[in-house]
Amino acid sequence: MRVTELSAALAARRAAGLYRHRHVLDSPQGAEVVVDGRRVVNFCSNDYLGLANHPEVVAAWRRGAEAYGVGSGASHLVCGHLRPHHALEEELAAFTGRDRALVFSTGYQANLGVIGALVTRGGRVFEDRLNHASLLDGARLAGARLRRYPHGDLKVLERWLSRGEEALIATDAVFSMDGDLAPLPQLAELARRHDAWLHVDDAHGFGVLGETGAGTLSHFGLDQTQVPVLMATLGKALGVFGAFVAGSDDLIEWLLQSARTYIYTTALPPALAEAARAARRLVQDEDWRRRHLQALTARFRRGAERFGLPLLPSPTPIQPLIVGDNARALRWSRRLLERGYWVAPIRPPTVPAGSARLRITLSAAHSEEQVDGLLAALAELAA
Ligand SMILES: *Cc1c(COP(=O)(O)O)cnc(C)c1O
Repeated sequence: MRVTELSAALAARRAAGLYRHRHVLDSPQGAEVVVDGRRVVNFCSNDYLGLANHPEVVAAWRRGAEAYGVGSGASHLVCGHLRPHHALEEELAAFTGRDRALVFSTGYQANLGVIGALVTRGGRVFEDRLNHASLLDGARLAGARLRRYPHGDLKVLERWLSRGEEALIATDAVFSMDGDLAPLPQLAELARRHDAWLHVDDAHGFGVLGETGAGTLSHFGLDQTQVPVLMATLGKALGVFGAFVAGSDDLIEWLLQSARTYIYTTALPPALAEAARAARRLVQDEDWRRRHLQALTARFRRGAERFGLPLLPSPTPIQPLIVGDNARALRWSRRLLERGYWVAPIRPPTVPAGSARLRITLSAAHSEEQVDGLLAALAELAA
């Protein structure tokens, strides 16, 4: 666009119901938050286990800052790799049952880094149509030939793979806007048969799924030979910030040598790594959080069915309500907020055109009463 076209472009966004606004919170993240001066029940965070303001995590952060200061001072390969980063990596590797883990500053960077390091320019990358933007951007930045298969369509993928050239398959484990799971055992089998990389982004399963919270691959019992690249974030169920990739010794060593988003960025604050370690321990030790979250998810789905609300087949705490129209998604979200419930309207390009939705996310911090209250408010809107 030209400089003089900017205001018109903004006006067009607004007219299409695609304008995005930020709300300012005056409280920590939690089941209830203070937003725009009002206390409301929060159904839009990814703090699935309620750890973002957990006293033990906050205390670990404080102790970390006292012991190691605030900034890491440099990138990991120069002199910014401190003991807390290293310990976090060792614990994440053991927790996910992989040889090694490598901590990245964000999930976005981790996905860009992995794809750039594993795919030759012009190499093929196959992605589910509903993948997170960072996986798509990773393929673009790598100069890959990117093709997106229809959601979960293994037949199409198999046809593409049968051409036999090098390939990387990337998928969300839990789809971030739909809440359903990728068919990972079948994808792993396809990848193995065609000697293709399988890169799984478990941003929304890590902490939530699996017996101990180790994520979607643990839920399916898939090891590092079946799924060579596991990426997960520390900013969702763990309630902190950052991300990691876990896999074989060779994979991690290759990423350390060549992932540009690992090499050319400042390491996370070491205190943050201490907070992530505390959060990871809570994920494993406080099993009641996962059980309560599952019970709330089942309760929400039962209630929605009773009120005739159209849900997607999601077994996770991501429970989207498709409303279709951008303006209606905005209107419903606004009216829910007036009633004291905060639910984010998600519109294109985050989701496909015509599938605007209210993305309801449940948390172990919620009570049954809060979930029932949201259901009643939704039923009133839909009536
Ligand atoms: C949030 C998210 C990311 C990005 O992680 P950040 O640490 O927030 O950069 C990547 N993939 C998926 C599926 C996500 O939901």
